[in-house]
Amino acid sequence: MSGEPEAASSARVPEGARIDLHTHSSESDGTERPADLVRSAAGAGLDIVAITDHDTTSGWADAARAGQELGVGIVFGMELSTQYEYASVHVLAYLFDPDHESLRYELARVRAERLRRAKSMVERIGADYPITWDDVVRQTSDGATVGRPHIADALVERGIIANRSEAFTGILHWRGGYYRPHYAPAPLDGVRLIREAGGVPVLAHPATRGRMRLPEEYTKTLVDAGLAGVEIDHRDNTDEGKAQLRDIARRYNLIMTGSSDYHGDGKPNRLGENLTAPDQLRRILGEPTATQAQL
Ligand code: AMP
Ligand code: FE
Ligand code: FE
Ligand code: ZN
Repeated sequence: MSGEPEAASSARVPEGARIDLHTHSSESDGTERPADLVRSAAGAGLDIVAITDHDTTSGWADAARAGQELGVGIVFGMELSTQYEYASVHVLAYLFDPDHESLRYELARVRAERLRRAKSMVERIGADYPITWDDVVRQTSDGATVGRPHIADALVERGIIANRSEAFTGILHWRGGYYRPHYAPAPLDGVRLIREAGGVPVLAHPATRGRMRLPEEYTKTLVDAGLAGVEIDHRDNTDEGKAQLRDIARRYNLIMTGSSDYHGDGKPNRLGENLTAPDQLRRILGEPTATQAQL
């Protein structure tokens, strides 16, 4: 189980393949179970899809089965929560060993912290609105990584707000009065850990409107630590940010990806709305990886 020669991976990623490398299932804050997510990917005409739930690999097995059944290629991934100063930074991780001990430990810690933080937020919200922790539990699949979207769903169910977006611009906004942070490793530690676990780290949506950007100096330290790529074609990256990212990617020889960041009904993002070029996926597959994609 390690990297493969360029020729072999090229054969499995044909020219013209439609590839979406960033999606969420109900194992985190997406609304479709992993198998249904893969079914939706087939319906959207995708040839290859990555399942990248927040801080968990628990959807991999079901996605693999569905992919086999439906003839959709699966790239096993995850979106790691990290933190730079006060900003949350997401790092996509592909094809790492899900049993790697220190990574597993770190993921368990982040998920436990997310749970603690969600309870604390709900307690604060509960002082002003009729919502309880049980409401949130009902919106969360067993064992799923808990996030603000689950609190949003509970608020919607209670009729307090209309949809997730309304929650994120109001009650759940970091300046909405109820926000609590949670522990997450520094991006640099995240990148190192992903590499240590035999994975390929790619910075997720690094040029999101209204969000802090990592200074290029820091990005350079990430590259030195093994950062392999940047997600450029993503609806939340600004046009100006995309241009800067292309420039950075060229200068540091980084892989350039594109994706939908699909969350089922939880977000307007549609599968395949942004794609990753086949040669860029081949570069990911050409890295030394602990797990093989199912293509
Ligand atoms: P958390 O990680 O718990 O702080 O919540 C952030 C998550 O909420 C991200 O992974 C996004 O997918 C999701 N999110 C952010 N903004 C929105 C929005 N406007 N509508 C729906 N989901 C959102
Ligand atoms: Fe999400
Ligand atoms: Fe993200
Ligand atoms: Zn995402």
